Amino acid sequence: MSGQHPRTPPTSAAGGGLGTNLLDGVDDATAERLAAALRCATVSREDSAATDGAPFTLLAQHLERSFPRVHAELELELFGHSRLYTWRGADPSRTAAILLAHQDVVPADDQPHWTHPPFAGVVDEQFIWGRGAIDDKSRVLAILEAVESALAAGVRPAHTVYLAFGHDEEVFGDDGAVRMAQALRERGVRADLLLDEGGVITEGVADGVDRPVASIMVGEKGYATVRLSVTDIGGHSSMPGKQTAVGRIARAVGRLQDRPMPLRLTPVISDMLSRLRAAMPPARRKLLGMAGVAGPVITRVLAARPQTEAMVRTTTAPTVIRGGVKANVLPQHAEALINFRILPGDSVHGVLDHCRRVVGDDGVRIELVGMSSEPSRVAAPGPAFDRIAHLATEVVPGIAVTTGLVPGATDSRHYDDLAATRCNFAPVVFDRSDLERIHGTDERISRVNYARLIAFNRRLIDQLADPAPSPAQGPTPSPTRGPAPSPSRGPAPSPTRGPAPSPTRGTDT
Ligand SMILES: [Zn+2]
Repeated sequence: MSGQHPRTPPTSAAGGGLGTNLLDGVDDATAERLAAALRCATVSREDSAATDGAPFTLLAQHLERSFPRVHAELELELFGHSRLYTWRGADPSRTAAILLAHQDVVPADDQPHWTHPPFAGVVDEQFIWGRGAIDDKSRVLAILEAVESALAAGVRPAHTVYLAFGHDEEVFGDDGAVRMAQALRERGVRADLLLDEGGVITEGVADGVDRPVASIMVGEKGYATVRLSVTDIGGHSSMPGKQTAVGRIARAVGRLQDRPMPLRLTPVISDMLSRLRAAMPPARRKLLGMAGVAGPVITRVLAARPQTEAMVRTTTAPTVIRGGVKANVLPQHAEALINFRILPGDSVHGVLDHCRRVVGDDGVRIELVGMSSEPSRVAAPGPAFDRIAHLATEVVPGIAVTTGLVPGATDSRHYDDLAATRCNFAPVVFDRSDLERIHGTDERISRVNYARLIAFNRRLIDQLADPAPSPAQGPTPSPTRGPAPSPSRGPAPSPTRGPAPSPTRGTDT
């Protein structure tokens, strides 16, 4: 996978030392700290009473042991197993960033198919293996590695930085992210930047672009599940009447599937396309350029494939259908579940209206079930977007950068109103098969990708640093971090790094 990508030294801005270290990936000690976190089976369950708390406690102990400076110098508040760290800035009246990540993982029900057991936390020459290696413990640990090394180097943020590590993101964040976000809201926190999981750098995934593409997502789709149900008196199947409960449900599902919500090119997707277009070879660009003036054309092109159709409409996915008990008995009850992913501009309420209109059958009960969430209200690149884009190109030179929408739900939706810029992004390079490992079999992260993640966070922190302590020298790397100096080895900060057009520090933070 990505191991083959950076074999040639980066040529541009990254600077010699960093590039070399990014090529090698993290050292054993750094890899092992992540692997140890992966051995804590922090699986969250929708019924929170069914979640085993012990692995979360083990993880907490591991984090506190591994990152002593963080735990000595930052303030920590617990919300259940969720952890909210406050790194007070030199000017604490302002907030530079809220860095989100989540500690929980989805279960691994396919253990026999894994190369290494999902919770064994195996490290080899190239990879760190285990459930959570990508989603999302590598981000929890990378942020802590970066802060720990920054503290060792005497770096302090100019404005306050929060680290918020939820414990129930995979089951919608109601106990963790919701409470942490509320605590920040009550304090009147308004951050320049909200950074969370979501987009990555892909190779060979975006059509027509021959460079890796960083998708820095700036919002997310909404989510709703609608239940259709029919209740009938039942009876003998020899005299069924015109329609049984099963037939009625089947017809309703068919109608919804045949008449999805309309195609629509939202501003964020058109922004995404124009950035991609700019990264294309000229011939391709011309083709897309024509489509650009004819919005409906490009929208129809996108709608031709499931992966891209999701960008231009609220999707309809009938996922469950059940009803009836026996072949010769008329069913008394039948129901179906339809899962919708909602485009900005549509709403949960709009989805319900759509269902009632399209089903057009008063005998079918239509209602929301389970969790639902509205799409991002604002989905556009904010003022700090360019800073994140630039950091991505420093860590992985030669990439193209675009925007987009997270198709799923992340914890960041709970913080949407708390920051001027929202970015869902991690600078890890994945091909198609890597993407399938997320929530899938053989989840793993390469040492190189993990080094990128740490370097990216460390550089971000350096940019947010209070320049007061020693402006001439800037933050120094910390090779003396004890037995495991590697994270600083990778992301050696170099504010004076020469030609890199480093985004102007502090002007918009
Ligand atoms: Zn996740």
